[in-house]
Amino acid sequence: MQNRKSAQLFKKAQKVIPGGVNSPVRAFKSVDAKPIFIQKAKGPFLYDEDGNRYIDYCLSWGPMILGHANKDVLADVKTAMSRGTSYGIPTGLETQLAERVVSAFDSIDKVRLVSSGTEAVMTAIRLARGATGRDKVIKFVGCYHGHVDHMLVSAGSGLMTLGAPSSPGVPNDFAKNTLLAPYNDAQAVQQLFKKYAGQIAAVIVEPVAGNMGTVPPHPSFLKKIRSLCTTNKSLLIFDEVISGFRVAYGGAQTLYKIKPDLTTLGKIIGGGFPIGAVGGKASIMNKLSPEGTIYQAGTLSGNPVCVAAGIATLKQLKTSKPYRQLDKLTGTLCDGISERLNAKGVAHRINRLGSMFTLFFTDTDVTGYESAAKSDTKRYGKYFRQMLEMGIYLPPSQFEANFISTTHTQRHIEQTLGAIEKLRL
Ligand SMILES: *Cc1c(COP(=O)(O)O)cnc(C)c1O
Repeated sequence: MQNRKSAQLFKKAQKVIPGGVNSPVRAFKSVDAKPIFIQKAKGPFLYDEDGNRYIDYCLSWGPMILGHANKDVLADVKTAMSRGTSYGIPTGLETQLAERVVSAFDSIDKVRLVSSGTEAVMTAIRLARGATGRDKVIKFVGCYHGHVDHMLVSAGSGLMTLGAPSSPGVPNDFAKNTLLAPYNDAQAVQQLFKKYAGQIAAVIVEPVAGNMGTVPPHPSFLKKIRSLCTTNKSLLIFDEVISGFRVAYGGAQTLYKIKPDLTTLGKIIGGGFPIGAVGGKASIMNKLSPEGTIYQAGTLSGNPVCVAAGIATLKQLKTSKPYRQLDKLTGTLCDGISERLNAKGVAHRINRLGSMFTLFFTDTDVTGYESAAKSDTKRYGKYFRQMLEMGIYLPPSQFEANFISTTHTQRHIEQTLGAIEKLRL
């Protein structure tokens, strides 16, 4: 594998960009490698500046469910661009995307578009606090909800491998309103509700955790926290920024038949462009400005190019119904990986829901942060580097979800399994 150009570009980038990257995990630190710089992408493939081709299992951290450079998405984006790229005045396109989201989720009557998942979470939490008149929010250890201040407490994703359980710059006054419970532990949530009776505005959860690696919920976990929120008049927020339109068209809530009060979306609904959304019952959503008094705004919110990409993506997902096929193919891949690693005597677990999965190097089941953190991250680094060398791009951290797209085929899976066979861990 050539990497001369990527190495040069990284050197240059570090002079003018902190760490040379615009989002920490991209620096490949936790896998003890130097980042590749990408020139282009098509279907399931990434091409770097040195001319190497990789099968992509990270897919821009989730959004590219239709693969890279999807023809129909690009066509709609080009049409939108040719009409000007931002007006700051309403467009019919925004309503079209909102209608698609509303019809996909039983729990959503109205939706507000923003420019990132982080913003969606910020808005959901402000809305929950404003609607309940309470300050405290329960979050789960290892769940990541964007880089918003009061959620950077025991967060997952890049923070897990950077060894920063929270971050300097987050005031204690914010963190004190964030209460923590272990993922999949409804009992702990019940105890917090008892201890802080009448003070909890919301419980926020990734209904399928993706940011400590993939960790699906226990069968009763979501149901129990739903009923605890109802009993205590707190709002349940499902952060479906990853799982929305990934694990099912209507997200994890459709799969598990549980209605949250608020849902945050992002990633897939932007079709590869920056976007986020918060949705819920009209009675809560109407509290947002200008209908209500809870303020939220954004210069580029509902940007016509982003929205056009989102509509084109959801349209294809709705008509092609790829979820069964994605599930089957990802199952083949994961079973194949397990079989080969077992033959090599490599201790591991694979957690999977539909086309989202994580291979953990551990000999205990991974059900939450504590068990995820037991994984052998050195071994993951070795795995990552060897796979990269063999033309397979994985998330550059143990604690992330892997994805496949509708452009991945049996042939790509077989190539990947061929690489797994050659691993020397
Ligand atoms: C990615 C992610 C976010 C943040 O979205 P950004 O667009 O990166 O701000 C929030 N919540 C979850 C569950 C995510 O995976």
